[in-house]
Amino acid sequence: MAPDNVLSAANAESPARTTPYNYHRYARLTIGARLAVCFAAIALLMIGGDAIAVWQFGRVEASAQRFYETDQRSLAVMRVHLDVVTFRETLSGLARAQDGREFASQAASLRDDFLKDAARFQASLSLARDADQDPTILTRLQTVRAALPSQVDLMLELVKTGDWEAVQLRLGNQVESLVGSSSSLVENVDREVAEERVAALESADRARRELSLVLPVTAVLILLMATALGWYATRAISRPLAHLGAGAQALARGDFECEVEVSGSDELAELGGAFNYAARQLRERKRAEEALRQAQADLAYINRATTMGELTASLAHEIRQPITAALTNARTCVRWLSRDQPDSEEARVAASRIVEDLRRAEGIISRIRLLFKRGNGQREWIDVNEVIREMIVLLRNEANQYSISIRTQTAENLPRVMADRVQLQQVFMNLMLNGIEAMKSMSTPAELTIRSQRGDNGDLLVSISDTGVGLLPEQADQLFEAFFTTKPDGTGMGLPISRSIIESHGGRLWAGTNAGRGATFHFTLPGEAGGPE
Ligand code: ADP
Repeated sequence: MAPDNVLSAANAESPARTTPYNYHRYARLTIGARLAVCFAAIALLMIGGDAIAVWQFGRVEASAQRFYETDQRSLAVMRVHLDVVTFRETLSGLARAQDGREFASQAASLRDDFLKDAARFQASLSLARDADQDPTILTRLQTVRAALPSQVDLMLELVKTGDWEAVQLRLGNQVESLVGSSSSLVENVDREVAEERVAALESADRARRELSLVLPVTAVLILLMATALGWYATRAISRPLAHLGAGAQALARGDFECEVEVSGSDELAELGGAFNYAARQLRERKRAEEALRQAQADLAYINRATTMGELTASLAHEIRQPITAALTNARTCVRWLSRDQPDSEEARVAASRIVEDLRRAEGIISRIRLLFKRGNGQREWIDVNEVIREMIVLLRNEANQYSISIRTQTAENLPRVMADRVQLQQVFMNLMLNGIEAMKSMSTPAELTIRSQRGDNGDLLVSISDTGVGLLPEQADQLFEAFFTTKPDGTGMGLPISRSIIESHGGRLWAGTNAGRGATFHFTLPGEAGGPE
C-alpha cells in the first residue's frame, strides 16, 4: 500500500525500494565532500578578499613611497648645494689667511663630501620615473660634479706656487659660478618635486577613496557569498533531517503509515531508506498484532461461551432459588389476601419479598447476559472489589459442587482501575475456574482465596490462591503459552488470553507456587493515578 504521508529526505525523485532493506546498498556518501567543497569555496573567497585588500593597501603605500622619494631628492639636492657653498666659504677664508697646509686638507675633505652627496643625489634621481624627469637636472649635476674636483686640483697647484691671488680669483669666479649652478639645480628640483608631490597627493587621494569603497563592497560580497554557501550546505542537510525528525515523531505517535521520500545517494538518503524500512516493518508488525488480537478476541469469546455452557446448569439452579422463593411469597401473599379478613400488611410484606426475589433473579440473568455479550472493549472506572463480589456470586455454585469454600481478603479504599469490565470478569473467571478445577479431585479441604491490595507505585495487586494440585516447576514457562493444557478437554487458551487482557490494560500477570499446597496467580493493574488515559 502506498503510504499516505511522504516526507522528503533528499533532493531528487524517489527510487523504489525493495525489502529486505540492504544497508550497504549506497557506497557514494557525499555530505562530507559537499561540506568540504563549501568550506573550501568560503576559504577561497576570503583569500580573494584579502588579496584585493592587500592590492588596495599597496596602492596607498606606493603613493606614500612617492612622497618619501621626492622628499629624499629635494633633501639630496639641498645637501649638494650646501656642500658647494661651504666649499666656497671655507676655502675663501683659508685663502685670505694664506694657510697652505690647512687649505689643502680642507679642500680635499670638502671635495670628498661633495662627491659623496652628489652621488647620493644622482642615485635618488635614478629612482624617479623617467617621464617625470627634467633632463637638464642630470646634465647640470654632472657638470658641477666634474667641475668642482678639477677646481680643487687647479687651486692646489696654485697654492703650491704660493699664488694666493690667483686662488682667490678662481674662488670668486669659477667656484662662484658653481654655486650659481647648484642653486639653479635646487630650483629645478624643487619645481619638479612640487609637481610630483601634487601628482602623488592626487594619486594617494584616489587610492584612499577607492580603498574606502572597494574594501566594504568586497567584504559585503564575500559575506553574502559565504552566507549563501553556508545556507545551501546547512539546508541540504537540515531539510531532510527535519523530514526524518517529523517522520520519527509520527512513528512515535503510532502513525506507521508515514514514510520519508528518499532520493540521492548520500548518508541522509541512506538514513531515509533505513527509516522507511523500519516504518514498513512496524506497519507489518502492527497488522499482524491486530490480526492476533482479533484471533484472541474470537478465541476468548469461544472459550467464555464454552465455560458458560458448562455453567448453565448450576446457574439455572441459582436462578431457580429466587424464583421458587418468589412463588412461595406470592402464595403467602394470596393466602393473606384471601382470608375472610384480608391482612393487607402481611400481604404487602410478602409482595415486597417477591419484588426482592425477582430483583435477585434479574441480577443473575443480567450478569449472565453481560458475560455472553461480545463487547468491543468499553473501558470505564471500575471498583475491582465489586467485580470480585460479582464473580463469587456467579461461581459459588460451581465451587459448592466440589465442597470448595471461597474466601476473600479485599482491602478497603483501593484505587479504581480503568478497565473493560467484561474482559476483567473474563480474567477472574479463567483464574477462579482453573483454581476450582485444580482442587476438584482433592480429598483434603479445598479453599479458593481472592485477595485485593494496593501494590507498588499505586498499582492494584490481585491474587487468586488455591489449595489444589499446584504447578510443576517445568511447567512454569509453558503455562502462558497458547494451547498448553494438562486437561483432557482443556483449550490451553485461558491463561494466554488472560495475560494478553491484563497486559493490554498496562498490568502484569504471573503464577507462583504456594508454600503449602496449591498455586497462586497474581496480576497488577495501574491504579487511578497511573492508569491508562
Ligand atoms: P485450560 O484451562 O484450558 O487447560 P489454561 O490456559 O487456563 O487452559 O491453563 C493451562 C494449564 O495451566 C492448565 O491445563 C493447567 O495444567 C495449568 N493451570 C492453570 N491454572 C492452574 C492452577 N490453579 N493450578 C494448577 N495448574 C493450573
